[in-house]
Amino acid sequence: MPNTPIIARTLASLHRARSDLGKRNANIALVPTMGALHDGHLSLVRLAKRRAKKVVVSIFVNPTQFAAHEDLGSYPRTWKADISRLASEGVDLVWNPDVKTMYPEGFATRIAPEGPALAGLEDRFRPHFFGGVATVVAKLFTQVRPDFAFFGEKDFQQLKVVTRMARDLDLGVRVIGGAIVRERDGLAMSSRNVYLSAEQRHAAPTLFRALKATSKRMRAGGDFRSALAAAADAIAEAGFALDYIEARHAETLAPVSSLNDGPVRLLVAAKIGTTRLIDNIKA
Ligand code: AMP
Repeated sequence: MPNTPIIARTLASLHRARSDLGKRNANIALVPTMGALHDGHLSLVRLAKRRAKKVVVSIFVNPTQFAAHEDLGSYPRTWKADISRLASEGVDLVWNPDVKTMYPEGFATRIAPEGPALAGLEDRFRPHFFGGVATVVAKLFTQVRPDFAFFGEKDFQQLKVVTRMARDLDLGVRVIGGAIVRERDGLAMSSRNVYLSAEQRHAAPTLFRALKATSKRMRAGGDFRSALAAAADAIAEAGFALDYIEARHAETLAPVSSLNDGPVRLLVAAKIGTTRLIDNIKA
C-alpha cells in the first residue's frame, strides 16, 4: 500500500515539510497543477520521480489566471481521487493552499511577462492569463524552492513563458517540459474534457487530426498558408469556433512561413460549445 503524501495547506506546514524533504541534500521536483488529475499530469509526476529524489505536487485552482467570464466556479475538483492517484505514484508532498493563503488581504503584486507571453497566441484571447500564471508560478517556486519543475507541452506557450521567467528572475529552478498525453483517438487529455457532451467529445479529436494533416501537407512541400486554411475549414466543419491555428518557431514562437524557418510547432485553439480546447504538435 503506497503512503499517502504529506498534505500542506499553510505556509508554515509547507516549510516544515520542505525542510524535512530536503534533508541529506535530496533534490526536489515540483509539478504544478490545478487538480482534476489525469494521465497527462501523472506523466509529469513520473518524469519528476525519475529526475529528483522527492516530488511535490501543487494543487491550486488559481483565480488570477481566469477572466470573469471563464470557468473558475465550475472548474472540476476531484480531491479524493487526486490524492489517491498521487499516493499510487509515490508523491511525497501535496501543496494545497487556499486562495487566502496564496493571495492574502492586500495582495498587490503581479508579474507582467513579455517575450513569449506576447506572441499573439493564447495572449490574444486570454489577455489576463499569463500574468496570472507567471505570478502564481513564481510564488509556487519561492514557496516550494524546487530544483526542477515540470510543465506539459500541452500548454506550449505557457511552458515557454515559465521557462523564460525562471531564468529572467534567477529563480534557481530548472523548468522541464513533458510530452502531451492523448486519449486513444488523439484528443489531448485535459481537465476540461469532462465538459464535453457525447457529440462534442466525438468531434473533439478533429483538432489533433487537423494538426497532423497540416504537418503532412507542409512536409510534402505544400504551401503553409493553404495547409493552415484547409485545417481551419476542417475544424469549423466539425462544429468548432476557431480562435487560431498557426505555425510558429518552436523556441521563439515567432511566425514562420516554411519548415526551413524551423523547428516549427503547429498550435491550435478552438471552442466547441462553451468549452475551449488547445493542442499543438511538432510540424
Ligand atoms: P493544469 O492542471 O491544467 O493547470 O495542468 C497542469 C500541468 O499539466 C501543466 O503543466 C499542463 O501543461 C500539464 N498537462 C495538462 N494536460 C496535459 C497532457 N494532456 N499531457 C501532458 N501534460 C499535460
